[in-house]
Amino acid sequence: MKQIPFVDLNRTHGKLKSNILKSIEKIIDNNSFIGGEEIKIFEKKFSEIIENKNCIAVANGTDSIYIILKSLNIGFGDEVITVANTWISTSETITQTGANPIFVDPDPEYLTIDVTKIEEKITNKTKAIIAVHLFGQSCKLKELKAICEKHNLFLIEDCAQSHLTTYEGKIVGNFGVASSFSFYPGKNLGAFGDAGCIITNDDNVAKKCRMFANHGALIKHHHQIEGVNSRMDTIQASVLLNKLPYLKEYTESRRNIASLYHDRLRELSQIITPSILENSEHSFHLFVIQVKNRSALIDFLKSKKIATGIHYPTPLPFLKAYERLEVKPEDFPVAFHLQHKILSLPIFPGMTIEEVEYVCESIKEFYS
Ligand SMILES: *Cc1c(COP(=O)(O)O)cnc(C)c1O
Repeated sequence: MKQIPFVDLNRTHGKLKSNILKSIEKIIDNNSFIGGEEIKIFEKKFSEIIENKNCIAVANGTDSIYIILKSLNIGFGDEVITVANTWISTSETITQTGANPIFVDPDPEYLTIDVTKIEEKITNKTKAIIAVHLFGQSCKLKELKAICEKHNLFLIEDCAQSHLTTYEGKIVGNFGVASSFSFYPGKNLGAFGDAGCIITNDDNVAKKCRMFANHGALIKHHHQIEGVNSRMDTIQASVLLNKLPYLKEYTESRRNIASLYHDRLRELSQIITPSILENSEHSFHLFVIQVKNRSALIDFLKSKKIATGIHYPTPLPFLKAYERLEVKPEDFPVAFHLQHKILSLPIFPGMTIEEVEYVCESIKEFYS
């Protein structure tokens, strides 16, 4: 078996490449690098696929979180609750508004925010909860909505890893006031560089986000407020438009690989395979197992030419960036415990059955 990479984008790009090159050539010929027609078309098509009213294309997923927070007037002295195990974009953007991120331990079974540990962290400064559908797993949205309604908080969904994940039959991103998406190349829908978007069913929030992302102006030179420069490039929009028709197929492919992994690895007592939330469809941005003897397993798989990853090696509150919080392991026992157990296996559209079988056989060989 040849090398099994963690992600191989060429498997999906191969057959799209000539069409994408044609689209890019058109943009070069038209000089429509910023604000080209592809942006509007992408926004329309993406909101159709996600079944939401408004889509605002922005420069990256991190900005999309920041812009949502700013549009909701979240700032100095406010508190925003989110989960301890996520990518730092979710929390650094909270800090950038002047607000404070308040971390909550993940649920030990589903690895998304533990809804039973949220209310004890709510104060009169709390303004919002950012729910992260980590690895493609939906958060417990019914419980989250109830908490937000009870305490009058905004629910924001970070969907950077959860394109087409569903919860009770509805696509995630549709449960709160606004949601953020990332199209970083390795995400379930990836551009050829950085890109992201915001979706919202609230027209007023949509207008504010669009304005803020474009220097505070909806019409050129009519700056209503100070904003930021966070626009999606036309070239990235055209790449995404070429890929969008395949998003469902890519997601199915991820789900099929995941179910094969589940099937083959279930019997191993040394491994915990990911639980899938009931009434939900996971989109498996990552397939994260919990293992015994992790570093030896990683080395063994490397010797078998199998790449793996760890998402993420250190839960956010324990990073140097958050030393000001002075947290102890017992403040986030689940996140602390998980950091030494989690291991992400290769999963990407176009990964073959033989490759998945080989990964599973190799893991079995290690434990036998
Ligand atoms: C990737 C990611 C982001 C940020 O997206 P970028 O496009 O890389 O800025 C935010 N949140 C989570 C959970 C992510 O995985």
